[in-house]
Amino acid sequence: MEDKPIDEILDRLERRSIERASPGSALGRKPSWNATPFTALIATVLSQRNRDESTYRASERLFAAYDTPAKLMSAPEEKVDELIRSVNFHRGKTKAIREIARIVHEEMGDEVPSEIEQLMTLPMVGRKTANCVLAYAFRVDAICVDVHVHRISNRVGLVRSAAPEGTEEQLKMIVPRKRWRSVNELMVRFGQEVCTPVNPKHDICPIREFCDLYNGSMKD
Ligand code: SF4
Repeated sequence: MEDKPIDEILDRLERRSIERASPGSALGRKPSWNATPFTALIATVLSQRNRDESTYRASERLFAAYDTPAKLMSAPEEKVDELIRSVNFHRGKTKAIREIARIVHEEMGDEVPSEIEQLMTLPMVGRKTANCVLAYAFRVDAICVDVHVHRISNRVGLVRSAAPEGTEEQLKMIVPRKRWRSVNELMVRFGQEVCTPVNPKHDICPIREFCDLYNGSMKD
């Protein structure tokens, strides 16, 4: 695998993001609710296997009523389910987020942990969710590898990995640490608008000269 000019690639994605004045986030836009580590954690769980727009709407409704661990753990299950009905797997997520709220309130002193191992002890919090919370809520150096980061990194040839965990490890070896947090933010919006899962728009892509898929040296 040839070395890629990672800083140049991230610079170009950054310029595109600034020009469009619509930087991405774990939810594709800035939250309208009180942004805390707790709301970031819950919103990231809601975003799993779900579209950004419906995640955003569900988060907005949920946090208008219950935006702290104490409030959410005491909220009636049917009410929470109703508020987040727009997301996929809402029943399972209702149970998980109420239990997360209980654990954070009763066992963690209302503080969402800022270490990956502790975060991953919570229901429905895997490596991707934990890294997103670290990067977005705690501003810790972490690379949140969601479906967009995984797909784009492999297409361009920054990594060769079948699983997001491998993508995270390989990206950490080539991306300067000070840029780790920005990787997800830059690639999410780029993956929604340009390097889409189906029919990526190579013709308007600012990094195509570096891309293995575009150059024909890898297959999707
Ligand atoms: S050239 Fe195409 S496949 Fe490669 S990063 Fe750009 S949009 Fe994605």
